[in-house]
Amino acid sequence: MARSFANIEFYKFFVTCSLITPFIQKVISHLAMNNTLIEIRKIHIEIEHYLQNLATKSSTNQCAACTNVCCKEEICNESINSDFLRFILGDKTKEYNKKNGWFDQSSGCTLNFGRPIVCYEFFCSKFDEDSQSKNLQVKSKEFSQVYAKVFRNQHILEIDNINSIPEKKLQKLLEKLKLFKTLCN
Ligand code: SF4
Ligand code: SF4
Repeated sequence: MARSFANIEFYKFFVTCSLITPFIQKVISHLAMNNTLIEIRKIHIEIEHYLQNLATKSSTNQCAACTNVCCKEEICNESINSDFLRFILGDKTKEYNKKNGWFDQSSGCTLNFGRPIVCYEFFCSKFDEDSQSKNLQVKSKEFSQVYAKVFRNQHILEIDNINSIPEKKLQKLLEKLKLFKTLCN
């Protein structure tokens, strides 16, 4: 009798453990994933700063002197329509202006980070073909390419919920970003 009671208790214990374990695994993996995303965000912002500096220092910094700026709200809004860029922007999303986007007449783009990636990729015909400009253009293209086919063949900007990206894929992305960053330094 005592023995069958012990068996029942063991069975209950076993069932409880098997129910809890996947839950704990899920919590642990979610926490780990958040950490990976946080690291991705940090490196992404560092690379954005690098690209912005490269554009500023370059003799081909046409945008600062441009009298016909191509910035448009339709372009800016990618940053608030994309789950990934919203994550990069954080609280900054609250400052989005529905009419002008991130563009300010007197100071230009008001975003230091979380810009639509196309803003780094686009160069109008005013840009020269010299080596500085070429370097900027190549680096900007490669930056976007790092995010191609992140999960289910989708570019990260197309992914509706970045929390659905498996940890393994995030780790792979993080490694690619780290490698790209070392090439920028
Ligand atoms: S990309 Fe060309 S058109 Fe657009 S702001 Fe820069 S210089 Fe002006
Ligand atoms: S550079 Fe800034 S202001 Fe211009 S389109 Fe991109 S996000 Fe908007």
